Amino acid sequence: MQGVALITGGASGIGAATARAFIQKGVRSLVLIDVDQTLLDEFKSTVLYEFGLAEELTILAIQCDVTNEDRLKIVFREVVDRFGRIDYAVNSAGITNKSKVGEYETSDWDRVINVNQKGIFFCMREELAQMEKQDFLDDQSIDKRRLQRGSIVNVCSINSFVAAKRNAAYVTSKHAIVGLTKTCALDYALQGIRCNGVAPGYVETPITLAPENVEVLRKSTQPEKTPQGRPALPEEIADVIVFLSSQGASYVNGAIWEVDGGFLCL
Ligand code: NAD
Repeated sequence: MQGVALITGGASGIGAATARAFIQKGVRSLVLIDVDQTLLDEFKSTVLYEFGLAEELTILAIQCDVTNEDRLKIVFREVVDRFGRIDYAVNSAGITNKSKVGEYETSDWDRVINVNQKGIFFCMREELAQMEKQDFLDDQSIDKRRLQRGSIVNVCSINSFVAAKRNAAYVTSKHAIVGLTKTCALDYALQGIRCNGVAPGYVETPITLAPENVEVLRKSTQPEKTPQGRPALPEEIADVIVFLSSQGASYVNGAIWEVDGGFLCL
């Protein structure tokens, strides 16, 4: 797989696993955007140690809060100056905080909506501006009708479709991303840009393994809730994201793929 991959929330969990999966598929130019500088530095060093020296890997790891639209503009300019294009954008940065609907502090509500909903919109706006300008990614091995200018995958959730108790801001933001993803697919289909989502069920990542959430993870991944009877590994979400991003998925557009061990079948 050729091209440049950009991942928000790329220093941890599903985003970090997606970075690894892109590298395993042959991508050699990666941009990781994350608010947490320490996590970024650690992850970049680990990945370079694992893959880098032998593989001529270039990783641009940039600290940025996806809610800061002015800073995002500067960051995307830096990315394009460095790599010239963005072929695969994965918007994975996300947060949660828990409260009953009527008990949310406005600032807590705003923070989740700003990161999970507005932050994705801000990133997509920059990603699309670049993708619209660039040529189709050349690939002699497939029919030219399958070539793409770019692809965006937004990380949604099973909570894009069903509610979860005491989690209204998260559920609201994740429902909204479905509308954003599908509308983007309509707006850019004729320009050769695809936009899709993945909707993970319960995944073993720092969010779900945090002490306050680990009991929910255990209960929610029993077979009566998650038919496969276990949480996903981040790699199991990442592999689907990379396929959806690739030209192998050239006719998948506006789709939200459930990657949930069967959770939404029940
Ligand atoms: P994670 O905490 O491991 O990773 C999220 C990353 O996003 C972190 O590195 C964090 O620093 C970064 N981030 C947070 N706020 C940011 C901001 N404002 N700007 C830039 N970066 C920011 O969590 P994860 O489980 O990998 O979650 C990734 C995505 O997957 C989220 O959108 C989450 O809602 C979604 N998701 C997770 C699960 C799960 O079970 N873990 C299930 C469904 C959906």
